[in-house]
Amino acid sequence: MAEGKRSRKAKGESKSTLTRKERRFLPVRDARMTASLVAGALGSVVLGAGVYIQFLRPTDNMLPVKLGSQLIELGDKGSYVVGAGALVLALVILLAPDFETALLVGDGGVGVDEGGDEGARRLLWCDIQEIRMSADALVVKGEEQKILVPLSSQAQAAAWVVREAEERIPSVIELSEGDRGRLAKVEEGAGEERKITDIQIAGRRCRATDRVISYEPDARLCPRCGEIYHKDSVPEACMTCEGPLGDAAERVG
Ligand SMILES: [Zn+2]
Repeated sequence: MAEGKRSRKAKGESKSTLTRKERRFLPVRDARMTASLVAGALGSVVLGAGVYIQFLRPTDNMLPVKLGSQLIELGDKGSYVVGAGALVLALVILLAPDFETALLVGDGGVGVDEGGDEGARRLLWCDIQEIRMSADALVVKGEEQKILVPLSSQAQAAAWVVREAEERIPSVIELSEGDRGRLAKVEEGAGEERKITDIQIAGRRCRATDRVISYEPDARLCPRCGEIYHKDSVPEACMTCEGPLGDAAERVG
């Protein structure tokens, strides 16, 4: 399968500068997101009402409200209503799931794109140590960071992570049959396919010689797992995923 992918990518391109690609997945709205939207709207209404009671109502109108046989004057409870609305909004901001964060799966490994200026945070396949299932997410773990792929809002991203990991680094997958049963079926057209332009190579070490690669054009990447080698020390087979390397090693960019 990896062979077919490589020859297809190589078409029309110079010998070893291949286009690295990935899929970008935006979260699908799940129950938690809907709940946080509703709570946010309610909080805003309560806060607005509180501001009216506290600051905007005519002073001679105490806003009497009849609750059963009791008569309550809202006019002197404005600060409580403001507080309640503000509290709900604060909880929504603290606890709401992220609507914007996209997940990336492809030649650059698994990545998180929060839409900020600093670019995507990536875990190259060669840096992934373990892929397992938690209560509600696929956990992709590296040495220094882990990426959570929620099964409800990012079902296709999770399915694609496992499919690509099976082709690239099957030894790190620690999923039971039951875990696999919780994954969605891979949809071929899922996500938005795009070129990868922002992988950071400089400062990483050659896997074969431990030499620091300070000049990006000197780097060669394993097309299967993304492992990095200095151009003078590319082995015949990748030392991380054992995939064929040699002439197949990719330049960066
Ligand atoms: Zn490799």
